Parts: sequence; structure tokens; C-alpha cells
Amino acid sequence: MSKVLECSKVDPTSGCNYIVRGDTEEDILRNAAVHAKEHGIHEVTPELMERVKANIHEE
Ligand SMILES: [Zn+2]
Repeated sequence: MSKVLECSKVDPTSGCNYIVRGDTEEDILRNAAVHAKEHGIHEVTPELMERVKANIHEE
């Protein structure tokens, strides 16, 4: 069982189809932070973190 996070769920306006994957929430958060840089987001704010956590689900 792994966890996934759809970029489009975090930011529907991005039009991005990227899916962040990880074995644990920690993995997801790390991979999401790396992916966020592709959107020019270099700092994950508490608000963004909330949206990320709310959209992580088991695959
Ligand atoms: Zn994206």
C-alpha cells in the first residue's frame, strides 16, 4: 500500500497532472516539496501543507 497525492487536488488552477507518490506521509511531503519547486514554490507554507495533508490518500 502506498500513498498518493494529486497535484491538481492541491492546486486545481495549476492544470498539472503530476501525482506525488510515497510509502509514508513523510515521503509524500518530501516529494511534494520537490515537485512544488517546479511550480516556483520554494517554501511550503502552513496553509499549503494543510491542503497537501488533506489530499493525501491510500492508493
Ligand atoms: Zn504540479
